[in-house]
Amino acid sequence: MNQSQNLLKKYFGYEQFRTGQAEIIDQILNGKDCLAIMPTGAGKSICYQIPAMILPGITLVISPLISLMKDQVNNLNEIGIPATFINSTLSEIEYSQTLQNITYGLYKIVYVAPERLLSDSFLHFLNQLSISMVTIDEAHCVSQWGHDFRPSYRQIATVISTLKKRPILSAFTATATEIVKHDIINLLTLSNPFTLTTGFNRTNLTFSVEKPKNKQEYILHFLKNNDKNAGIIYCSTRKQVDQLFQCLSDKGYPVSKYHGGMSEKARNSSQEDFTYDKTSIMIATNAFGMGIDKSNIRYVIHYNMPKDLESYYQEAGRAGRDGDTAQCLLLFNRSDIITQKFLIERNPSDSNHQIEYDKLNDMIDFCNTDKCLRKYILEYFGETPTFDSCNNCSNCLSEVEITNITLDAKKILSCIKRMHERFGIGLVADVLKGSKSAKVKNLGFDQLSTYGIMHEYSKNTITDLIYFLITENYINSIGDKYPILALNKSADDVLFHNKEVLIKRKIEKNDLLPNKDLTFDENLFEILKTLRREIAEINKIPPFIVLTDISLKEMSTYYPISVDNMLKISGVGVNKLEKYGNIFIETIQKYVTENNIQIIQKPDKKSPKSTTNSKENTNLVSYDLYHTGKSIDEIAKIRGLTRQTIENHLINCYELNLEINLTKDIQMQFEKNIFDAIDEFGYEKLKILKENLPNKVNYFDIRYFIAKYKKENLA
Ligand code: ADP
Repeated sequence: MNQSQNLLKKYFGYEQFRTGQAEIIDQILNGKDCLAIMPTGAGKSICYQIPAMILPGITLVISPLISLMKDQVNNLNEIGIPATFINSTLSEIEYSQTLQNITYGLYKIVYVAPERLLSDSFLHFLNQLSISMVTIDEAHCVSQWGHDFRPSYRQIATVISTLKKRPILSAFTATATEIVKHDIINLLTLSNPFTLTTGFNRTNLTFSVEKPKNKQEYILHFLKNNDKNAGIIYCSTRKQVDQLFQCLSDKGYPVSKYHGGMSEKARNSSQEDFTYDKTSIMIATNAFGMGIDKSNIRYVIHYNMPKDLESYYQEAGRAGRDGDTAQCLLLFNRSDIITQKFLIERNPSDSNHQIEYDKLNDMIDFCNTDKCLRKYILEYFGETPTFDSCNNCSNCLSEVEITNITLDAKKILSCIKRMHERFGIGLVADVLKGSKSAKVKNLGFDQLSTYGIMHEYSKNTITDLIYFLITENYINSIGDKYPILALNKSADDVLFHNKEVLIKRKIEKNDLLPNKDLTFDENLFEILKTLRREIAEINKIPPFIVLTDISLKEMSTYYPISVDNMLKISGVGVNKLEKYGNIFIETIQKYVTENNIQIIQKPDKKSPKSTTNSKENTNLVSYDLYHTGKSIDEIAKIRGLTRQTIENHLINCYELNLEINLTKDIQMQFEKNIFDAIDEFGYEKLKILKENLPNKVNYFDIRYFIAKYKKENLA
């Protein structure tokens, strides 16, 4: 084990580095400047904190967020790494005391707000120190093209050039387009830096879009299963925040609220209650944003569709910053589109709202797509994901049925054509429905052959289908405020060239998407959470700094009642063990005795299969159960997942070259039949294959043989 790995275990209590971390650390230790673009929660801090421990002298960390700075320092002190911060929250006495302690060499890591760099006396002070590395956190702030430009970041290069000895520079950010990346390298004067991008994907987040009839009821239902977790509910307007807050307080939920209409004092106290786990639900407008330092947020719900995917991903991304699983749920309703258009029009600063409307349209498409939501997001941000299905979003996880809607699509497309491509969704849907409205009659549309040809559907369903065809690019929605529908080229393929239109429809509502992959003792978890809250209160630090949710969940899985076993818990290093080990061991011991629990040892070193990739891990859990002879339905029940998800796990394993043993007779009797059917009908439409095979062959058998067919024929 090398020195960095030793420190990772000893101080942070982690067994292995995550993707990118070891590389960055090695490069820094070799004296190279670095730029790392890693998503929130990926573990950027450790990339500079570990080298800071190894390099001689001090590491200066420039960070724009005062509250995060305080958390980082608290965190480091908690695990025994000497660190401090300098920002405007310090009194004069505290400030000079801190400077003195820094010169005495009491700290390895010093966090500084960028504004401080504007002061000459501070620069003079820095020149007396031995600074080995300057780390620039949130490095995108240096660029005007980024979303949080901070003019004082431009001062960083000057400061570095005035230091007697040039330190190593390491820059970190979660988001950087090519322009921003270029700015970071040039404006911060990184010298031929080692650059690492691990992508935008936040694998611990489950994305879902739901379209409930009544959002308030949906939230109440959601909270029934999630009331013990911390979460944020974002609403578009202050009024909605107030209403939902009232509704949930009336029902007795521990809830806080936050919006621009509240006094600063009220907002601060609200945020503090939430941070310290005194309330678990925060209802807020997007004013609740920058500087949210709570890392154990288990869900972010968007009560309304936001204006664009940038805002959505940033807000939803506040979930699961501790790396533990978390849910991001968007509740969509078509009236959200009207609200967002209203907000665009109300903003007078820009008379040409084209860009805002384009972004809004992408957001609407996200809500209507039947494809993988994660893939949609990653593609939106310019990545090229290698997967089609992430198995961790509502579109991939739900039980779906593929329906052929070619006929309906033809009806809609030809109706738009007959209306000369000059009208909006509402009127097209009215004509298809056969509305008796005056407008339809006056325009003579009741005479069209497409009038009323979809009368058996509700207008809502017709509208949904039209939105789907827009998302799939058969229809163009032209114009902003009152868009009209026109046909896209690909509509011709459907109308004249027999192209089929397929839609995936959810058949089993999987609305709450419980993330049950890690099974732990929920009762013990609650007891440990209470203990954590009490310790936090005594020490005046937020609970998630005492120990993370992941650590508590592991304790509730492996019941560590010895020091050795406690040290195996992720996030428990020697310092945490010394501070809290005993009290947690005692509490767990008591619980184990009272409940007569059989303890499973946490394996010493996780097998590479199970640690590096939790998705692989979850696949393997299902695979192992399958090979103990359990049926897919039994496994689904045991794991609290849907049958479809378990099937996905097994097929994934098969694709990774693990053997799947179907019942012998299926394997022997039907392989040829199924392969023939695939040759005849293709493998895109399971339903058609199913209809053309004996009843005995089920969907899973078909999926297995499709995978086999692909392996044998397409490899
Ligand atoms: P970022 O700055 O990239 O948003 P953080 O540095 O705050 O992320 O790390 C997110 C969480 O992941 C923290 O709780 C951190 O302790 C944890 N973490 C970081 N590296 C590892 C690792 N190698 N193993 C387990 N957990 C880790």
